[in-house]
Amino acid sequence: MSRKILIVGAGQSGLQLAHGLLHSGYQVTLMSARTADEIRAGRVMSTQAMFDAALQHERDLGLNFWEDEAPHFDGIGFSLAGPDGSLALDWAGHLNAYAQSVDQRVKMSGWMEAFEQRGGRVIIHGVTVSDLNRLAPRYDLTIVAAGKGELVQLFGRDPSHSPYATPQRALSVVYVRGLERRPERGDLATVNFNLVPGVGELFVMPALTTTGPCDILFFEGVPEGPLDCFTGIRRPDDHLRLMLQLMEKFVPWEYERARHVELTDWGATLSGRYAPVVRHPVGALPSGGIVLGLADVVVANDPITGQGSNNASKCAAIYLDQILAHGDAPYDEAFMQDTFGRFWDYAQYPTTWTNAMLQPPPPHAVQILGAASQHQAIADRFANGFNDPRDFFTWFMDPAKAATYLESVALAAV
Ligand SMILES: Cc1cc2nc3c(=O)[nH]c(=O)nc-3n(C[C@H](O)[C@H](O)[C@H](O)COP(=O)(O)OP(=O)(O)OC[C@H]3O[C@@H](n4cnc5c(N)ncnc54)[C@H](O)[C@@H]3O)c2cc1C
Repeated sequence: MSRKILIVGAGQSGLQLAHGLLHSGYQVTLMSARTADEIRAGRVMSTQAMFDAALQHERDLGLNFWEDEAPHFDGIGFSLAGPDGSLALDWAGHLNAYAQSVDQRVKMSGWMEAFEQRGGRVIIHGVTVSDLNRLAPRYDLTIVAAGKGELVQLFGRDPSHSPYATPQRALSVVYVRGLERRPERGDLATVNFNLVPGVGELFVMPALTTTGPCDILFFEGVPEGPLDCFTGIRRPDDHLRLMLQLMEKFVPWEYERARHVELTDWGATLSGRYAPVVRHPVGALPSGGIVLGLADVVVANDPITGQGSNNASKCAAIYLDQILAHGDAPYDEAFMQDTFGRFWDYAQYPTTWTNAMLQPPPPHAVQILGAASQHQAIADRFANGFNDPRDFFTWFMDPAKAATYLESVALAAV
């Protein structure tokens, strides 16, 4: 008799894990608050840029349905606004392998339909704690993959890994058609990371949405600063207009190519904010049962570094390995702690790096970002850190290691 697993939440992590377990012969039930059609016709949820290591987990499960269709990006562009608002610094690093962004409306609805076609069971229901109380005893293991939804209340905040109690950025996203290329990038397709000190960041990236290829404009505004002004804007066309006005003022080099953009669809905008948080992985139900948190439920970082979907993919892959390796043994609390521990062995790095990127850059980071415009090797290393942020801890995150690295690059150049 194969083991029965309940997964609550049909996002990047829940669906990826559900497919992986189904493929290995487990009886998987997936509960989703929305149908595939509702997700497809709804509002955008993310900018979901994913890098090679995370995309590989999707390929491994035969879930890379849109790989040929979705635009690639092969580098990370970095632009810094000077005190007078002009472009003070600009460079681009090359990725060793391409990255992609597939609108989660496309991906999650497609993956959910494929999961049912492959024999998985989907129940459409917004799950409450009392539902879990009733349902969990019927399964060998219950996993909560409900993102930042209300079920996170089951999982206590871990203050030792959660330095922020409040949101650190106000988020504003719009998906557009008609964006022109940045001429200085030539043929290199990039995610552009535009930093406006004290104000926030604008990310611009190509993606695949419900209506085909598009670009995403994504502001991360310092709270109560000039980009924190999207609360209460209801109409998507008003949202786009305001984004373009702010781009003209703060990132005119990006505005230049965005003059003629239009919304991809009426669900193309998103705004909001949340506090980054790490939670304890085991949730206790009133009945005494326990459930295991996955991905954003347990580690929700600010999207400034574009790591959340990547972490969700990596977390789902680690949990899959752990469940397969566990055989017929009971999924007790020790198993759950150990499984999360394996994810945290990795996730502590993107988490610490992301939390650091929310602060003004320290002097050694400013030096690195400046030196990257002179040395392509530095720009390339920075870009590839997005694929595996552990590397940042060997040169970028520590002033002494940064100095050693910069010296070695300078020596190699003479
Ligand atoms: C503006 C923005 C930009 C981002 N950009 C990037 C980026 O460029 N790159 C990147 O890697 N990450 C990015 N992220 C983060 C990324 O989107 C998330 O980290 C990732 O989607 C988390 O996956 P998940 O499976 O944990 O949760 P989710 O993808 O959020 O999935 C959770 C699912 O659970 C469902 N659910 C919730 N509650 C219930 C319930 N009670 N019952 C049933 N279902 C429920 C939800 O409807 C949802 O479908 C961004 C996030 C935001 C907000």
